[in-house]
Amino acid sequence: MSQFMPSAASQPILSSTASDAPNIESHSAAAPLACLTTIIEHIPAVVYVKNAADRSYMLINKAAERYYGVPRERMLGRTADDVFAGAAAAYIREQDSRVLDARAELSADEHEIVTPDGKTCIVTTMRAPVFDPSGAPQYIVTVINDVTARRRAEDKVAFLAYHDALTELGNRAAFNEHIKAVSDMAAAAGGAFGVVFVDLDRFKDVNDTFGHVAGDALLRDVAHRLRAAAADAFICRIGGDEFAIIVARQAEPAALAHMCRDIHARMEPDLQFEGASIEISVSVGAAIYPNDGGDVQSLLNAADAALYRAKADGRGVTCFFEPGMDLAMRERHALHQDLRLAVARGEFLLHYQPLAEVGGDVVGFEALIRWNHPERGMIAPDTFVALAEETGLIVPIGRWVLREACREAASWERPLKIAINVSAIQLKHDNFANTVRTVLDLTGLDPRRLEIEVTESVLMTDTPATLANLHEIKALGVSVSMDDFGTGYSSLSYLQSFPFDKIKIDRSFVASLTSNDQSAAIVRAVLGLGRGLNLPITAEGVETGEQLAFLSAESCDHVQGYLIGRPQPIDAYRDILSAPAQHRRA
Ligand code: C2E
Ligand code: CA
Ligand code: CA
Repeated sequence: MSQFMPSAASQPILSSTASDAPNIESHSAAAPLACLTTIIEHIPAVVYVKNAADRSYMLINKAAERYYGVPRERMLGRTADDVFAGAAAAYIREQDSRVLDARAELSADEHEIVTPDGKTCIVTTMRAPVFDPSGAPQYIVTVINDVTARRRAEDKVAFLAYHDALTELGNRAAFNEHIKAVSDMAAAAGGAFGVVFVDLDRFKDVNDTFGHVAGDALLRDVAHRLRAAAADAFICRIGGDEFAIIVARQAEPAALAHMCRDIHARMEPDLQFEGASIEISVSVGAAIYPNDGGDVQSLLNAADAALYRAKADGRGVTCFFEPGMDLAMRERHALHQDLRLAVARGEFLLHYQPLAEVGGDVVGFEALIRWNHPERGMIAPDTFVALAEETGLIVPIGRWVLREACREAASWERPLKIAINVSAIQLKHDNFANTVRTVLDLTGLDPRRLEIEVTESVLMTDTPATLANLHEIKALGVSVSMDDFGTGYSSLSYLQSFPFDKIKIDRSFVASLTSNDQSAAIVRAVLGLGRGLNLPITAEGVETGEQLAFLSAESCDHVQGYLIGRPQPIDAYRDILSAPAQHRRA
């Protein structure tokens, strides 16, 4: 820079804004200097030169013009006092004096400056004095690096390390650190603190029904409501739809209970999202240190157990930890561990329940899974299917059921139907139809003998893969039944979304058929619907002759239930599988 010595001191050296080739007004056409000027004009750093005598701006490059946000004409020939606001001008004046006093280059570390157009920038600055041959200061050359964008990015990264990007609440890492600090403090001072887990009810349904954008909006909205309910507490989002609150002050049970009531109350107004009204409710589990857990891990386990209980009690409930609660959770955990190994250990088996024409002829069997647990003995699906669905284990388990049931049915002498239950999770996997095709090939079972039973929850999830799988399966010749008809919210509308081959009326209607006029009316209506749609109807859970007589009189097509036959190992039905026609009654 010291070679850079324009001769006419107070005149602007570089004043062009309109042209890319700057004028050198003060110097004759010296090629090296023109070249240097062009470089200075175009380098990305902010460069300006001031007259050392009156501190007026003599040269301002393009980056400087952009940085200051004002045309260079408004600065050239003027001083910082003319251009900058008071504080910034004073700072510049002081820095310029320092460099002239020091007679040496000076650098300033990152600092904030407010530019003439009002934006705050973070910059590093280098100032150097330039002297004339007699040693008198002639210019001050300043080079500024604007590191605002880099610094903001770094700040953002640092922020995100401890915050959840979606809700801007603390994240799990922040939660872990905070709870450690709070518990260290409580341990040292003998105080108490509370941990409250908040879990959204039916978040998955919102995601499935309204889409992920709505799901995100819901999470942000809930974060906002939690902030309002627990203003003094430390709130984090520690998982998908799980929030955690650490209450370090006023952690006695009454205050905590009050806060939890407020949380529920704040969830009351529905979220309005693109014309839809989305109901919000949360389940809450709370535990207090040191009574419910004397260290962080046991306290978290206690809060988890309380939340688990709250979830089990239904929607919108708070549970405080009570001794014994963790037992249920530990059991579930143990069951999950066992379930993971059960397929490989060959602990599952199938029971078969006959499906018959209303006159009594068996037309097929429904395969129902049983788990022969090494310690607990035979476990019914109600105990583990939901857990298998939640954990995704239903996929390998369901594959086993499919293979085993098809293998079994293929071995029968009579070509009876075989029905298997398929859960929504299995159908969401885009290769489910492939699995069915492979199993049919492998076992040699005629596709027309296979029926898969799905509940309306399958269609509620509405992923593209689900319908594609169902259509593909149907194209193979396999039939698809709607199971548990009438128990869901909108069984009727789901009948429209897929061409089912069969409807199974839920056993709850059949159970009260002869005692409850409404049930009888519903069963009659469904039978009428079946005739209208040309869909055969199966009544489930037929236990008495009276029920059978009603169904027979109302021309129900098929029946299933203890009266016809209980779910049993297939050996119990060997005679039906091979018997001559006249003995085929169950
Ligand atoms: P579901 O598909 O509705 O199966 C019929 C259930 O009703 C069976 O219970 C059966 O034992 C019971 N049942 C049959 N007849 C009668 C009767 O006359 N009275 C009464 N009270 N109950 C009767 P189970 O075997 O305990 O199965 C329960 C549920 O577990 C099934 O309901 C089905 O949703 C699910 N499930 C069973 N096996 C599988 C499977 O392999 N995969 C999947 N995803 N789910 C399965
Ligand atoms: Ca079924
Ligand atoms: Ca059913």
